[in-house]
Amino acid sequence: MLLTISTTHQPATDLGYLLYKHPAKVQRFNLAFGQAHVFYPEATPERCTAALLLDINPVDLVRGGNDFALSQYVNDRPYVASSFLSVAIAQVFGTALNGMCKERPELAQTPIPLEAKLSVLPSRGGEALLSRLFAPLGYALNIESHILDSQFPDWGMSPYYTVTLSQTIRLADLLAHLYVLVPVLDDDKHYYVGDAEVEKLLKRGEGWLAAHPERDLIINRYLKHQGTLRRAALARLIEDSPEDPAALDAEEAAVEAQVVAGSERKASLHDRRLEEVLNVLKQSGAQRVLDLGCGEGRLLKLLLRDKQFTQILGMDVSHRALENAVERLRLEQMPDFQRQRVELIHGSLMYRDSRLEGFDAAAVVEVIEHLDPPRLAAFERVLFEFARPGMVVITTPNREYNVMWESLPAGTFRHKDHRFEWARAEFQAWANGIGERFGYTVRFLPVGPEDETVGAPSQMGVFESGVVECLI
Ligand code: SAH
Repeated sequence: MLLTISTTHQPATDLGYLLYKHPAKVQRFNLAFGQAHVFYPEATPERCTAALLLDINPVDLVRGGNDFALSQYVNDRPYVASSFLSVAIAQVFGTALNGMCKERPELAQTPIPLEAKLSVLPSRGGEALLSRLFAPLGYALNIESHILDSQFPDWGMSPYYTVTLSQTIRLADLLAHLYVLVPVLDDDKHYYVGDAEVEKLLKRGEGWLAAHPERDLIINRYLKHQGTLRRAALARLIEDSPEDPAALDAEEAAVEAQVVAGSERKASLHDRRLEEVLNVLKQSGAQRVLDLGCGEGRLLKLLLRDKQFTQILGMDVSHRALENAVERLRLEQMPDFQRQRVELIHGSLMYRDSRLEGFDAAAVVEVIEHLDPPRLAAFERVLFEFARPGMVVITTPNREYNVMWESLPAGTFRHKDHRFEWARAEFQAWANGIGERFGYTVRFLPVGPEDETVGAPSQMGVFESGVVECLI
């Protein structure tokens, strides 16, 4: 099994620094299942190629296995790119995979022209799957297919391909893509797959897997079709991916088309929602406010404009959303007196967090529908039992309204990451339950233009604690 990586970035021999393998040497590494050899078939300033040759020992593979005996010895494993290659990449090119390079740190972070060639890559899903996996990541592919046996052409084509992937990309990203996708194409793993695999997948999939159109297939195959692991990975991946702006736009555009006809002012549903949340917070007299699941900081921006709010804390589980919020609020350019009023923290609404205690009010705008229903109970306790602000404002879509949007196919949600969308009665039953259990009064307000039958596109629940305590 042979993988070559070539570059024309000059001086091309810098590839040796990036891989931590000297171009003039042939090196051998002992792995659990055989040996890996690294050498450079070409190393000139114009073009340099590093080769990773895996010499898998079929006898080593058999140890510990108890499959049908012949298949242990007569199989494709020694010759094809599989999870053995991923292990070898992690062990032999581990530093490069982590994006580090002492000698050329900047180069490790720079996209350079790279070409990876896999001599024998099995693809359960054929050429089509090869393209579906690599093309969305920006690679140009050259795929050579092979007939199964040239002596028996009737047997048809083999599932093995010689594949060249080219792109100007960081070496670490190329290695991470191969690390994850080679076993996915092969649809097999040579070792036991447990929780540790979820961690590896999330680590190596960081920055690209969440948005990959074949995300679900990749997760499913990588975790060997184990439902529990797959759900765990998906939940964490989605939690850490910011709202898809395009999806939000679709919702906004749909609503705008309807709002504009009857109103003098053109406002998107989301703007309206935020304004109404702001009004409720303002009327309550709250000064210290939380924005939980603050996303890119749209509400934070409105809160900052109003002096009533003296302490504003935004929290989100997504690093990327928080980075965008820093940009949107221009936090780094903000004068000190403003900067002191606002804080952004990374955290999850699934876990009790003392930083959330002692606030007058909390806004949770379009967040609950991103939480898995079985985990809502944890959220309820985190917010209403432990953080316990005097007031909570929650908004969530009203599913009944979806029929008003022609562009939204029946039975689908407004956003692909929504775990549920509630009808008004469902939201109210849930919210009233919280009110009873945690001692809050609850009132409900429509958000957006209200239709007689299906209500408004969004719904708001306002929870207040003081009143109930006075009555008791
Ligand atoms: N409130 C913002 C963003 C809504 S999108 C606005 O109205 O513009 C939903 C947000 O909830 C995303 O930013 C997402 O990262 C965040 N989120 C999802 N699960 C979360 C969790 N468990 N803890 C905190 N934030 C979460």
